Amino acid sequence: MDIEIVPLPSEKMKTKIVDQSQLGFGKYFTDRMLIVEWKAGQGWCDARIEPYAPFILDPACLVFHYAQEIFEGLKAYKWEDGRVALFRPEMNARRFNQSGDRVCLPPVPEELFLKGIEQLVSLEREWIPTAAGTSLYIRPTLIAVEPVLGVKPSDHYYFYVILSPVGAYYAAGFNPVNILVEDYYVRAVPGGTGEAKTGGNYASSLKAGLEAKKKGYDQVLWLDGRERRYIEEVGAMNMFFAYGRHIVTAPLTGSILSGVTRDSVLKLAPTLGYTVEERQIDVNDLMADIRAGKVTEAFGSGTAAVITPVGKFCYKDEVQQLTGGNVGEVTQRLYDTLTGIQTGRLKDEFGWVRFVE
Ligand SMILES: *Cc1c(COP(=O)(O)O)cnc(C)c1O
Repeated sequence: MDIEIVPLPSEKMKTKIVDQSQLGFGKYFTDRMLIVEWKAGQGWCDARIEPYAPFILDPACLVFHYAQEIFEGLKAYKWEDGRVALFRPEMNARRFNQSGDRVCLPPVPEELFLKGIEQLVSLEREWIPTAAGTSLYIRPTLIAVEPVLGVKPSDHYYFYVILSPVGAYYAAGFNPVNILVEDYYVRAVPGGTGEAKTGGNYASSLKAGLEAKKKGYDQVLWLDGRERRYIEEVGAMNMFFAYGRHIVTAPLTGSILSGVTRDSVLKLAPTLGYTVEERQIDVNDLMADIRAGKVTEAFGSGTAAVITPVGKFCYKDEVQQLTGGNVGEVTQRLYDTLTGIQTGRLKDEFGWVRFVE
């Protein structure tokens, strides 16, 4: 499918943020966006890259009422030699359609997903920040836009991609996150939508997040929805626990997101001399292991921060401080190696990098 490039009038071009330390996360957007429509009886059509602008949508659109939507998140990095690299974008293309299948969205051909993103990023390459730790965050989204109040799959969709230059997550060294294990609210249940990157999952997590903030915690760690006993994941991160050089994470049982960073950690860690294991983690056993000093580090994995060390860890009023408030060796090495591959400082032995022409 050819993508039409709609001219960008110079008066619509935005001023780029010069001070890259002020970027933050997801606050600024580039000049253009990609949009492709899907219509019943016709399929994907009208692919275009046009000036970034608000949508005009009917208030009855299905996405507003019944949340028929999905999204993705990946990053583009500008290397020192000027090349622009994406990190495992095929994984995002595949996961986008797996998420979409769960909420009855039409699959976006992987070729269209990847080529669309590459063309858009290529046109917007001047927007990619270059300071250490910065990148261009890419947000593909698919929404139901048929204006009708009946609960049913839509007959009209927008697939669109917007780009946001983002700052260094850790401007001055790691900021360990403090985590509260949630023992009342649940995020997902077997057979539910936990495995899909769909908006409703995040709306239903807000309340627990706010209550955790009030208690002084940054993030909620979800337990399984059936027994509230097994570790699942954090809001937008998968969780890992290091027992010395042995790294453990929860298995993909259908109620947690299959993170690209999670998969990368599982593949990378053995090449750094660590062993990895996917197994059910009973929170009571985990607390006992933390108390006994067997759990030496904990960290989260996700595209936004790549690797996030855990500081305070609280379950049912028992507060533990992991790694004595410092950043552990496993956490630091995984962060350095993954970001090294993403930014071209280290050799990509895995074929994970895909360059934008
Ligand atoms: C996006 C996301 C992750 C992390 O996935 P990555 O592909 O590593 O960015 C983990 N959990 C949830 C719930 C997410 O939405």
